[in-house]
Amino acid sequence: MERTGRVVIVDPAYASDVGHHGDVNTRLLAALGGRDWSVQCWADAAVPAAGCRGVFRDCGYVDPRHWADLGGTVHLARRMESQLHRALAEQGPVGGWVMHTALPFQLLGLARALCHCPAADVVVSLMFAPGETLEGPGGEADATSNCRVALGALARAVERGGHRLRLLLPSQQSLELYAPLLAAAGLTCTTAVHICYGYGIKANIDWKGTLGEEWRQYEKIFPAIAKSSIKQVSLECYHSHVPPHLMKLLQGKDVLVGVIDVASDEVETPEQVADTIGLALQYVPKERLFACTNCGMAPMKREIAVRKLAAIAKGAALARQRYG
Ligand SMILES: [Zn+2]
Repeated sequence: MERTGRVVIVDPAYASDVGHHGDVNTRLLAALGGRDWSVQCWADAAVPAAGCRGVFRDCGYVDPRHWADLGGTVHLARRMESQLHRALAEQGPVGGWVMHTALPFQLLGLARALCHCPAADVVVSLMFAPGETLEGPGGEADATSNCRVALGALARAVERGGHRLRLLLPSQQSLELYAPLLAAAGLTCTTAVHICYGYGIKANIDWKGTLGEEWRQYEKIFPAIAKSSIKQVSLECYHSHVPPHLMKLLQGKDVLVGVIDVASDEVETPEQVADTIGLALQYVPKERLFACTNCGMAPMKREIAVRKLAAIAKGAALARQRYG
């Protein structure tokens, strides 16, 4: 399915002084724009900020029905949906949607609009508890219940429209809060944990130098992870001092094996990648093994990172030939 390169941040309540919309939008615009993506923030008409287009009118916090009441939630969601569609008609298709909120009407408005949009990547950051700042008894419980409804609509919209959804939960606390809502909404997802020895920056490399010849920290945590409901574990392998046989402690889990050294600019060859996969296959069944990077590549030069990612693909193809 064809996807376009334009990314839109949706913030119908930018003008509000609740939360840190200005900071978050400015950072998002800079981060996405810095990666050569065409990015805009579709915001309240009242906001004259750089990179923003005034798309929404009367979709903010000013309306007292905005989140606790289901009728008000649906009312505002419909208003937001129609304004989103008007903007789409004027400004053309969108390949990526970003929303940072937990307000039920905003989630529902986006969900309704996505039912009629081309397939896109959708990133929603659930930034706080629904109804966190609501005053009065019962408000928060109602907002939470509406949030469950909105997340259910989002799940259906994503499935129906062929979208790819990524939900971001910024803390363990928010994961605990939202896990039952996501389950009730029918939003199933794969849970993964990355056990991190750090980026390839100097502070991390220096710290790793103090860990000794064998890094056995995984030995302590893997048995606990094996008993947990987490489905996938991402770990360091290539050029790591972690004994590879510790992967045996992750029975029943998908293992994302680090075949790329993120602390070196030297691009791995397909043979080296396939060798690391072969090593991991001694401890992880092939249907559970995924080739991955040791850690994130954010500090790395983009051109090198892209070549390293290509090496994963070529090395995985070679490993399939070698090991079947
Ligand atoms: Zn890491």
